[in-house]
Amino acid sequence: MNRVRLLVLNAALGPLDYSVPEGMRVQPGSVVIAPLGPRTVTGIVWETERLPGNDVPAEKLRPLRELVSVPPLRAPLRRLIEWTADYYCAALASVARMVLSSGGALGGPTTMTEYRLSGGTPERMTPQRRAAIEGLEGQQGTIRELAGIAGVSEGVLRGLVNQGVIEPVAVAIDRPFPPADPDYHQPALSGDQLAVANTLVTAVEERKFAPVLLDGVTGSGKTETYFEPVAEAIRLGRQVLVLLPEIALTENFLVRFEQRFGTPPVLWHSSLKSTERRRAWRAISEGSAQVIVGARSALFLPYANLGLIVVDEAHEVSFKQDDGVRYNARDVSVMRARFEDIPVVLASATPALESLHMAQTGTYQLLELPSRFGGAQLPEIKLVDLTEEKPASGRWLSAPIIHALEERLSRGEQSLLFLNRRGYAPLTLCRNCGHRFQCPNCSAWLVEHRLSARLACHHCGLETKVPDACPECGEGDCLVACGPGVERIADEVGELFPDARIAVATSDTLGNPERAAEFIAQAESKAIDVIVGTQLVTKGFHFPELTLVGVVDADLGLEGGDLRAAERTYQQVAQVAGRAGRGAKPGEVLIQTRHPDAPVIAALANGDRDAFYAAETEARRDAGAPPFGRWAAIILSSEDEKEAREAAIRLGDTRPQLDDLYILGPAPAPLALLRGRYRYRFLVNARRSASLQEVLRNWIDAHTFSPGVRVGVDIDPYSF
Ligand code: ADP
Ligand code: ZN
Repeated sequence: MNRVRLLVLNAALGPLDYSVPEGMRVQPGSVVIAPLGPRTVTGIVWETERLPGNDVPAEKLRPLRELVSVPPLRAPLRRLIEWTADYYCAALASVARMVLSSGGALGGPTTMTEYRLSGGTPERMTPQRRAAIEGLEGQQGTIRELAGIAGVSEGVLRGLVNQGVIEPVAVAIDRPFPPADPDYHQPALSGDQLAVANTLVTAVEERKFAPVLLDGVTGSGKTETYFEPVAEAIRLGRQVLVLLPEIALTENFLVRFEQRFGTPPVLWHSSLKSTERRRAWRAISEGSAQVIVGARSALFLPYANLGLIVVDEAHEVSFKQDDGVRYNARDVSVMRARFEDIPVVLASATPALESLHMAQTGTYQLLELPSRFGGAQLPEIKLVDLTEEKPASGRWLSAPIIHALEERLSRGEQSLLFLNRRGYAPLTLCRNCGHRFQCPNCSAWLVEHRLSARLACHHCGLETKVPDACPECGEGDCLVACGPGVERIADEVGELFPDARIAVATSDTLGNPERAAEFIAQAESKAIDVIVGTQLVTKGFHFPELTLVGVVDADLGLEGGDLRAAERTYQQVAQVAGRAGRGAKPGEVLIQTRHPDAPVIAALANGDRDAFYAAETEARRDAGAPPFGRWAAIILSSEDEKEAREAAIRLGDTRPQLDDLYILGPAPAPLALLRGRYRYRFLVNARRSASLQEVLRNWIDAHTFSPGVRVGVDIDPYSF
């Protein structure tokens, strides 16, 4: 009788051996259901021969229950699961769960709902409704697809659904996605773009592992350029994965994709409905989905025939996952490409220092787009020294920015003010007793959001109504806002320029794709004069009429002892500056700072990227930081402060003593209380030692922790 070793989706269990019943044909990667105690468990057949360490005779093993009808996970994906678990010190089962997640493989309904005209007429005809009814003749699809076809909002269609003019129909979940046409509309590329595109097209044709850093200034047309190898992969019948850092960015991308390929790509992100996920998962595993655009989790999908990976805005922090399996999608994408033996393109105007180092040392191929497309100039950047140009009391905008805004408004051009703080004010207190509003679950202040009249914790999501009276002293009407958030800046602009049309752009206001699309449409049609936004607006957006960018507080990101603070400040400010002057009119950038001489601020002002990266590289070398050394964090947490502290101290007692390995801590983690759990942290710096993970695993595995204690390892942590 055959026996197999199963990777079961239960992180507490190791691989388990089973026998294969007569007539069931399994191979490595097959997804199966197996008995486990009184229940069943989903598993992946991991090994089919040489099962060392199990002497139980095959007859004594329990037989597999059922073979799940999805294609077996291919060897490159199985290697990726193993590598990810090993590198990030995670359980194999936790990584495997990301692959099979979302019910894609595991049962669930086999139909989904689509919509079409019923033949009825609405109670009241409006121009929008008429457009919808005329545009949807003979069409069928999801509300989203139909809205695209008819060129009306989803809200209009939902209204028609409520009136029975549009009716739901159940369709099979494996309905294919419309094919992309690689030659639908090929733009004329500039000379630089063409050279880069040709290199990438050749790499796709050669089909071997080839990591590429596409380093192109903002507005150079990186998207148009990497669309060429995407087209080539489609022609060759291979799949493409494009990773984007933010859902809000997807809208803009989808429009451009459709213009180039005549149809939208297949989407993968956390706000898909479960039927949409199942449909996508299946189409991806069977190979019928061609181009998949997704958030980082799309990296772990079971592509049947992957030919190219593109990571756009590859420097973005949001590619780092900070709970569960703590992985960095940028790094994992390179490994996936390696196991699949295909090219991977990391595209950015401000690459991560690690990526640039790999390119400079020849590990990655460096392809550059040094100028903006269509002759647009990079914007002029000026510093505003806040120690000299003091804003009025209780205000945050200095005279030069106010003056520049005024100019733009009188010329009918757009402006963007950047401040990386959501809400109205970062801290709210009682004028009477000094009470500060703090999150009960986190060591963080509650942030006032006036637009929604709420106090919110940005760490655990807790929200409460803004109280009428202070909960401490009972005094009414006593709350004072301390410091600025984007909403407060928007208020200030509104008071200065009462006629200006102002939009706040943050994850609160653009959190879902529909609202993001609406915002983009408004900005493009010049229905907005001034955008006030967080890091969300630093990326990807292309508004040709935007000619002024004001950075409200460039020093904000430099506070705190974060290893990557300077790099992140550089990236954010350079990216947001890159939103200015992308069309025919030149752009201007004003950066408010109290430290005009800080190296990163000076580099931004001089446009001296090379100097900044060179200085930063030396600082990292001295600190033994990546790419010259490695960092890891170990976080122990518990709902009980004492339990967490004692577990950390006990772990600290057996800390490994090795040359070139430095262990700091335990100390309270920067967020010492997070979501109701007290957190202690070790920071580990390995100057050379290649086996950092092994050292950490041996150290931790030698301990048993009480059930209330969670131990998490963060390899290459982002925020310290
Ligand atoms: P980046 O991502 O490098 O900042 P984009 O890809 O957003 O730049 O390109 C900037 C703008 O120039 C976009 O509106 C894009 O459509 C346009 N563009 C770039 N290359 C071309 C081209 N070859 N033909 C037409 N338009 C282009
Ligand atoms: Zn909280």
